[in-house]
Amino acid sequence: MTEQTAIANYLKYTGKKSFNFTTALIDMDGVLFDSMKNHTRAWVKLMKKNGIKCTRDEFYMYEGMTGRDIIKMKFKNGAGKNVTDDEAQALYKVKTRYFTELGDVEVIEGTLGVLKALKEAGIKCVLVTGSGTQAMLDRIDTEYPEIFDEQRVTAADVKRGKPNPEPYLKAMAKVNVQPNECIVLENAPLGVQAGHTAGCFTIGVTTGPIPEKDMYKAGADIVYKDMATLLEAIPALQEAFKPQQ
Ligand code: CA
Repeated sequence: MTEQTAIANYLKYTGKKSFNFTTALIDMDGVLFDSMKNHTRAWVKLMKKNGIKCTRDEFYMYEGMTGRDIIKMKFKNGAGKNVTDDEAQALYKVKTRYFTELGDVEVIEGTLGVLKALKEAGIKCVLVTGSGTQAMLDRIDTEYPEIFDEQRVTAADVKRGKPNPEPYLKAMAKVNVQPNECIVLENAPLGVQAGHTAGCFTIGVTTGPIPEKDMYKAGADIVYKDMATLLEAIPALQEAFKPQQ
């Protein structure tokens, strides 16, 4: 898929006449931080302690959902148990403790370069995550200094996590932009689905084990194999976003 084709397709299915690139909506886990390995380990530990069968791989597929929704779904399907909001919150705290005990996670290689290039091109970068892991949120300004707009969307802002488009719709409302001004940067199918449903031009980067085809199936407009490849493609994207004569 070339950038030109991806954007032509986007304009066709959205019925928009043009794309006016002003804003990048950026996911956190798996995009800013290489945190999914530890998240999946922590989830498996929580489920095992509660007698619920699971595999690590399935949690890569749930990536983007709120912790509360994952807990409710797994306890219902795995143990026939309806978990209340309060119980889910308590269980999520335990999961967050397991995650923290696994130690600090690395940043994703190349993401800082991509975000710097976007900033230099005058693009506003907005964080959009369903995560409520404070330790990670606190690291953003250290690892990604002067990148993000003050306005951000986290677990505290959303009722319905990804794949619901709410997180991206909230972000666009906060910074007062339209879908055909925004790219979404995601690494997981449910996140891609949320960005796509919100009407944004959605870019998938396969930073984990999820294959490219799953990202396209979820609605990605274009998929890159890593951040270095996306960085190289930024000029081509900007060129393709320019109004056609
Ligand atoms: Ca993610």
